[in-house]
Amino acid sequence: MAVVSLLKCTTYSVDVLKAKILEGLMLIAFDPDRFDGARVALKPNLLSAVAPDSAVVTHPHFFQAVAEIVIDHGGRPVLIESPAVVSLGNAMRKAGYLPIIDKLGIEVADLDAVEKISCEDARMFTYFEISRAFFNVDIIVNIPKFKTHGLTYITAAVKNLFGAVPGMRKSQMHLRFPDKREFSEHILDLYGAFLTGFAEKKTMLHILDAVVSLQGEGPGTSGSPTETGAIIIGEDALAVDCTAVRLTGLDMNHAATLIMGFTRDFGVSSPDDIQVTGESIDDMRVHDFVPAKSTGVPVFLRWTLARKIMKNLFVEKPLPMQSACILCYQCRLICPADAISAAGKKKRVPQFDYHRCIRCFCCREICPQGAITLKRGAMQWLLMRR
Ligand code: SF4
Ligand code: SF4
Repeated sequence: MAVVSLLKCTTYSVDVLKAKILEGLMLIAFDPDRFDGARVALKPNLLSAVAPDSAVVTHPHFFQAVAEIVIDHGGRPVLIESPAVVSLGNAMRKAGYLPIIDKLGIEVADLDAVEKISCEDARMFTYFEISRAFFNVDIIVNIPKFKTHGLTYITAAVKNLFGAVPGMRKSQMHLRFPDKREFSEHILDLYGAFLTGFAEKKTMLHILDAVVSLQGEGPGTSGSPTETGAIIIGEDALAVDCTAVRLTGLDMNHAATLIMGFTRDFGVSSPDDIQVTGESIDDMRVHDFVPAKSTGVPVFLRWTLARKIMKNLFVEKPLPMQSACILCYQCRLICPADAISAAGKKKRVPQFDYHRCIRCFCCREICPQGAITLKRGAMQWLLMRR
C-alpha cells in the first residue's frame, strides 16, 4: 500500500506552500530531518523558456518552498533539469528561478556530464544516459507540474523524470518510439532505472504542483492554466499520478504510463493499492478538467503509420498558425523526424512535411507562442465515433 497526501492549496505564497508541504510530508510519514546532511536533487519541470503563469513549468515559488524546506532541515539542494531546446539558464530566467537560485545559493548541476543507468526488467530500453548529477545525490525530490499531454495524455511525476535525459536526446527517443504505448513503456523503463539502477537505492520523493494545472492542449503553451488547488506528495510516482488523474476526473484508461505502470513491479498495481491521506478526493474533485484532444495513434491503426496516406487521413497533424508564429524555429530544432523546414516565400510559418512527421507533437510542446494547432485527419471522424 502506497500512502499519498493530498493538500488543498490555492496560492503560490511561499510561506503557505511550505506549511502545506511540511504537513504533506508528515502525513506520508516522511521525516524532513532525513534531509539533514544530505545532498538533495531538486528536479522541477522547466520544459522551456516560458513565464510561470503559463502553467507549463513548475511554479518558481513552489520550487522555492521545497528548496527552503530542504535547507531549513540541513540539506544541500542541487537543481537538476535539462530543457529540450533552450538553455537551462534561459528557462530559469524566464520562469523566475534565477533570483531564487541566487538568494538561496542553490547549486545548479552541470548538464553536459552524463552517465549510463540501467533498468532491470526493461521492456523497451535497457540503458539511459542521464545527468551524472543524479548519481552524486542522496535523495531525489521530483517536483513536477500536473499537465495534459498530447501524446501521453498526462505528464506528472513519472513523465517529469524524462527531463533527466539531457537536451535533444529526448526528441531522438520520440523517433525511436513514436507510438504512445511504446513511448510510455520507455518512460516507465526510465522510472524503473531510477528505482533500481543506482548502486545504492536512492530515496525518491514526488511533490506535485497541481495548485494551477495545465488543461487542454498541453504540455506546452497551447494548453490553458486552470486552478486545481492541490499539492500531492508521495514516494511512489505512480500513486501520485493516479491521485492527480482521479482528482481531475480524467480517464485513467488513457493515461498509458499509469495503466502500463500498474503492470510493472514498481510499487502500486492498482488504485486500490493507494491510501490517500489529508483531504479526500471527493471533497476536492475538479470538475470540467479538459483533456488534450490528441492522444496519439490508436493501437489498431499502428500499421497505418507505415502508409503515408493512411496516416494523414486518420491522425491529427501539427499545423503552424501564421497569426502567432514568430519564426523562432524551436520547433525545427526539436523535430526528431527532420520534418520541419524554413518558411517559404508565400507563408511566414515553417513548412511541415506530414509524410515524414511521426506525430510526436514535440513541436507543439516546445513552441513558445502556442502557435501550433492540431488539424484532424480527413477521415478522423471514423475514430471519433468509436
Ligand atoms: S511554430 Fe512556434 S516554434 Fe515554430 S517557428 Fe513558429 S513560433 Fe517558433
Ligand atoms: S513535425 Fe512536430 S509532430 Fe511531426 S515529427 Fe516533427 S516534432 Fe513531431
